[in-house]
Amino acid sequence: MNEATLTYYPSRDFKANARAALADSNLRQSFRGAMDFLMGKRAAQFPDAHELAELRKLGESIRQKSLARLPELLERLEAKLNENGVTVHWAETTEEANAIIHGLIAAKGGKLAVKGKSMVSEETELNHYLEARGVTAIESDMGEYIVQLAGEKPSHIIMPAIHKTRADIAKLFSEHIPDTPYTEDVDALIQIGRQALRQMYVTADVGVSGVNFAIAETGTLCLVENEGNGRMCTTVPDMHIAITGIEKVIEKLADVVPLYSLLTRSATGQPVTTYFNMISSPRREGEMDGPREVHLVLLDNGRSQAYSDEQLRKTLQCIRCGACMNHCPVYTRIGGHAYGTVYPGPIGQIISPHMLGLENTVDLPTASSLCGACGEVCPVKIPIPEMLMRLREESVRDPHEKVAHPLRGQGAGVDREVKLAWRLWSGVYSKPGAYRFFGWAATRLRGLTPRHQLGWTQNHVPMKPAPKTLHELMRERRKETAR
Ligand code: SF4
Repeated sequence: MNEATLTYYPSRDFKANARAALADSNLRQSFRGAMDFLMGKRAAQFPDAHELAELRKLGESIRQKSLARLPELLERLEAKLNENGVTVHWAETTEEANAIIHGLIAAKGGKLAVKGKSMVSEETELNHYLEARGVTAIESDMGEYIVQLAGEKPSHIIMPAIHKTRADIAKLFSEHIPDTPYTEDVDALIQIGRQALRQMYVTADVGVSGVNFAIAETGTLCLVENEGNGRMCTTVPDMHIAITGIEKVIEKLADVVPLYSLLTRSATGQPVTTYFNMISSPRREGEMDGPREVHLVLLDNGRSQAYSDEQLRKTLQCIRCGACMNHCPVYTRIGGHAYGTVYPGPIGQIISPHMLGLENTVDLPTASSLCGACGEVCPVKIPIPEMLMRLREESVRDPHEKVAHPLRGQGAGVDREVKLAWRLWSGVYSKPGAYRFFGWAATRLRGLTPRHQLGWTQNHVPMKPAPKTLHELMRERRKETAR
């Protein structure tokens, strides 16, 4: 595997990454085409605006109710899973989560892990961690497998390899899978990928997966997928380790139905997926298959920071459908890698600052036109533009200011020059005498207005003071009416 050569674009370099992505016309064209396709599929699934509005309202309320009782539901989930024979582990950081998983595999003397799709394991860079400790982790979701072979991160949360062309995949397979001829035939490529993976399920010591919903009422882990690889990972190897963020818990079984419907229709434009797995326990007495051990790792990684603030808590409502990125004019042009985060696009912009700190993600909340498309399509009604505004505010808040729920990296976006400019502005605008003098001087000196005004004049005509101040205009008007 190519884990050692993983290509990484840090979020701190977002502006440079975005510029490079914009200069790549192939990338822009393929993302535009793919996103148009996905937007069309989603729209076809929601022909009735009224039904969609009702369903979104229901989805939002389920997620909000679950989050309002998060600590209690997590405890109930743990108790129920324990009762069912599933061991629950808690991890505050990505390092802790990786260490727990590696510890479980090492205790069995395991050398090969086969993985179903899990964005949380991308968050922890689990593959890399395991490789460094002598355990090979193979992605079994076709898209994830392709990006793993390429030594890249996923560029979309639902379709990790959406940025790859057929020729890219043909080249990767022929170079990395032994005895594989170069072919661009899609069916043949799928068969090649499947063949390469099939053997892994049988030989793997452990199967790792993510979780879409964790049901507190029954102690059930739900996994939504289309390829059957998730089912193989969670049933064939002797041990199954699931990893998920703490926010994925929902109260009861009945809550799953609307959320599942919103998820599949918003994500891939499917009414249902090919597989919906419900895992409640290890193999029971008399059962023919299934793992003998099941573990769940619950990861925080900055989620409690978002949770502690009532407004930012809404970020955790996310069901990871990816619709916000499909509809985002910024994501569509630059693709997922430019963000430098595991979760790109609008959801990445609002969740990554909690995971990585504002000091590492300060440009992300500004990478939005605030057109509102993300918030409008979000199936659980996360007001993403509001969250972006709030994060922008936090990034320029005085780093020493005491606030109820400080964010990691508060004040990371403070720019001394901008701060000085706003101070001057407030000094002038809060004193009538200074304001009048400034207005008078600006109108008289308007001829000196520079033709280039930083980024503004790239797309706009230069801003120029009016020939007369408002006070002068008002005086003239009054005189005219008095005549
Ligand atoms: S923020 Fe909303 S639209 Fe975006 S991935 Fe999450 S649930 Fe989907």
